[in-house]
Amino acid sequence: MTDTAALLARLIPNLADYQGTDLAVTTPVDGSQLASLKFDTLEEVDAKIDRSVEAFKQWRNVPAPRRGELIRRFGEALRAHKEDLATLVTLECGKILEEGRGEVQEMIDICDFAVGISRQLYGLTIASERPNHVMQENWLPLGPVGIISAFNFPVAVWAWNSALAFVCGDSCLWKPSEKTPLTALACQALFQKVAADFPEAPEGLSQVILGAVAQGERLVDSPKVPLISATGSTRMGKAVGPRVAARFGKSLLELGGNNAIIVTPSADLGVAMPSILFGSVGTAGQRCTTTRRVIIHHALVDKVFESLKTNYAALGANKVGNPLEAGTLIGPLIDEDSFKNMQAALDRVRPEAVEVVGGERTLEDQFPGGFYVKPAVVRLSKQTETIFTETFAPITYVIPYTTLEEALEIHNAVPQGLSSAIMTTDLREAEYFRRNSDCGIANVNIGTSGAEIGGAFGGEKETGGGRESGSDSWKAYMRRQTSTTYYGADRPALAQGITFDV
Ligand code: NAD
Repeated sequence: MTDTAALLARLIPNLADYQGTDLAVTTPVDGSQLASLKFDTLEEVDAKIDRSVEAFKQWRNVPAPRRGELIRRFGEALRAHKEDLATLVTLECGKILEEGRGEVQEMIDICDFAVGISRQLYGLTIASERPNHVMQENWLPLGPVGIISAFNFPVAVWAWNSALAFVCGDSCLWKPSEKTPLTALACQALFQKVAADFPEAPEGLSQVILGAVAQGERLVDSPKVPLISATGSTRMGKAVGPRVAARFGKSLLELGGNNAIIVTPSADLGVAMPSILFGSVGTAGQRCTTTRRVIIHHALVDKVFESLKTNYAALGANKVGNPLEAGTLIGPLIDEDSFKNMQAALDRVRPEAVEVVGGERTLEDQFPGGFYVKPAVVRLSKQTETIFTETFAPITYVIPYTTLEEALEIHNAVPQGLSSAIMTTDLREAEYFRRNSDCGIANVNIGTSGAEIGGAFGGEKETGGGRESGSDSWKAYMRRQTSTTYYGADRPALAQGITFDV
């Protein structure tokens, strides 16, 4: 049994400062209340933004490797508190403890990555067309970064953004999901503790804004926040993107997915099936990268569908349960609305489906306040627009195909473009897939979910086009400056050979 009060006291010693009556924070495990919090008023949001501007003015002048040292220490603090933080992640968002640990590990990994990046904020030296000139590209700190995060990765997504933003010289303002504010307060408390022992870290370097849409909008609309990195539904992105653009801010959008795995006749099913299962039902189908569609060659579709049915029935019967308990593979949905959305999606697709298996609520007796479901698998004879909308629940649609060209057409027909995968042992099929998948992630013989931090993460189309985490994503948190220097003594030449003799 988790002693929640003791856990919260260890992770958020100043919880009393945030107490209020605006938001009852409940756990999806059984619906019980974990805390009751107050929201920031809009004036308090403004004051936090101003504090962030002041913090930025100091932090940007701290040498980048020194900024990296702060993140190295924060990574150490995360290691020391990994189990507690993972438990709180599980309690607050309902993912199984093993995945809660994985999420904190992702934070640790991105801290390590950011420490390395803090010594690699490189710009180019560029050949000039004019004599005795040199051009260089400088990467400079950007300013306060607004981070809006979703409930399903309550801490990792913040870390992906903030670890890089901090080493780049920025301050951060974090508006977590109103469904998972406690994990945010726990991270903030940990960060504050590390920052308190770091003389160069200014007050207000990292701040949390508690609130819902109104507080999010205040942050989004502020011209003092040059970058808004927003993770959540496409609905949210459609609201946030134009507002940021209207004030000429930059946005980094990480929105919904509708991810597919293509299973070709050459697939090794021993490799494919575990990836399909983890991708489809892991995290109770509540990952942006969850496998929602499995597009299977017609010669294999009966076999794979039967195997999925058998596996889903076994998972539904034995592996759905309390996410804190070892042996559970599928925890609860986040809340009742999510359960209703799942049922509505199943009702919509039923008239078009060849067969629908699973999807029922379970464990209601044991957890009347929790919404546990058996994973659902739906066989379709063809893909229709009914499944173009992301349903954040464990529903897998099985769709047959005949040619690989057709498989990619089916694959790319949805409005989202986050993650994709192909199961094949044929090199030509793999390469055709990679070149034709319209997603930001295209995997071969591994599933759609479970990305590592080293690559740039994000997707195209309604997924929003953002890239964060690894590769050169750090550039989003800096501003690029081109500087030309003339080091000659004669009258300097003009570009393009222009003469302008006065
Ligand atoms: P959500 O869109 O309901 O909320 C996300 C965040 O946006 C919350 O903090 C919320 O308060 C805030 N928000 C909502 N409307 C806003 C507005 N108008 N202005 C400012 N802020 C606003 O999403 P959710 O239910 O928490 O998360 C699930 C969704 O997130 C799914 O669609 C999932 O695919 C997506 N997601 C995407 C990624 C990715 O990296 N692409 C990662 C995780 C989750």
